Amino acid sequence: MRIAVSGGGGFLGSHLCEALLDRGDEVVCLDNWSTASPGNIEHLLDHPALQFTETDVSAMVDVPGPVDVVAHLASPASPPDYHRRPLETLAVGSRGTENMLHLAERTGARFVLASTSEVYGDPLMHPQREDYWGNVNPVGPRSVYDEAKRYAEAVSMAYRRSLGLDVGVMRIFNTYGPRLRPHDGRVVSSFITQALNGDPLTIYGDGRQTRSFCYVDDLIRGIVAMIDCDEPGPVNLGNPIERTVRELAELVLRITGSSSPVEYHPLPSDDPTRRQPVITRARERLGWSPKISIEEGLRRTVDWFRSRREDVMTADGRISLREGDSRLRPLLNGKKLA
Ligand code: NAD
Ligand code: UDP
Repeated sequence: MRIAVSGGGGFLGSHLCEALLDRGDEVVCLDNWSTASPGNIEHLLDHPALQFTETDVSAMVDVPGPVDVVAHLASPASPPDYHRRPLETLAVGSRGTENMLHLAERTGARFVLASTSEVYGDPLMHPQREDYWGNVNPVGPRSVYDEAKRYAEAVSMAYRRSLGLDVGVMRIFNTYGPRLRPHDGRVVSSFITQALNGDPLTIYGDGRQTRSFCYVDDLIRGIVAMIDCDEPGPVNLGNPIERTVRELAELVLRITGSSSPVEYHPLPSDDPTRRQPVITRARERLGWSPKISIEEGLRRTVDWFRSRREDVMTADGRISLREGDSRLRPLLNGKKLA
């Protein structure tokens, strides 16, 4: 198949592009490098079936030729990223989604949307099933992300109902693994970076809030299964094992062998108190369930952070391009299918 992946240079997107290339698909990767580094796909530069276009999909999407599947992953995803880019986040969830939908409509492709557990907001139903409508503050700081994704789901389903487009909506729960940016502010990358640097682990609130953490390889299998079927969804994709943030901190300290202390900071506003997916629908309709334990997933992630220490441990909180990365951009932009 020929698959267009927006946000294909990001954490999940780069793993997805790699998985699709590995099984023989052609991939057209679209990214504007707003929250990721070209180093994520450096190893794919010479792959004959990868085409890359540096573009803001909120402004325009131009993919000449046939397309079988459009996978829309472009969007800031970590809370500090979308707080820093509120208008861009709303734009990519709305105009970006419409542009990608239009590409799917024009080419007759299946359209797969990376939505999020954030559409449930601070959920009053626990665990969360897909028929729960959510509890979102529409004017709070997280609303730029939550409401953009809720709109993205709504407009995707409207294309399905009114134009018959083959649409699939995935609601992705917290996912972690290699290629997370060390300073993207998400809890797994923050704790690992802090533990490896010997800095205090920053727990927000009392650390009793929960998340359910899925290892990236498991999640990518779920996305690929969604690409390969005609399931409209929404389908929850995530690991159903719930952990408190404090438990996560203890696990990271144990796995890294770090003696970093733990430090408590105020809980950000509207931070969801509990989050755990019901994945019966994914099991039944996609034949999917996660396999990798959090201990194993964290070990693999810590190993990656250790091996990339020189490259990724810049402490400025911004994405800083490595020298290699800045050389990569023009190379990637000129890259056409061989
Ligand atoms: P990420 O920030 O690593 O990747 C997002 C990618 O999209 C980046 O490469 C970024 O440069 C690109 N991008 C952003 N705006 C763009 C634009 N206007 N045009 C082109 N490219 C643009 O984040 P991620 O964790 O890989 O998330 C990928 C998708 O999955 C997002 O849509 C996110 O909402 C969703 N998701 C992720 C998680 C998770 O735990 N990782 C959970 C729920 C949902
Ligand atoms: N969190 C934390 N310390 C950090 C970063 C995050 O305690 O350094 C908490 C955060 O308040 C939230 C949970 O960890 O309760 C997950 O946060 P993350 O930003 O990874 O994802 P999201 O809130 O989008 O689920």
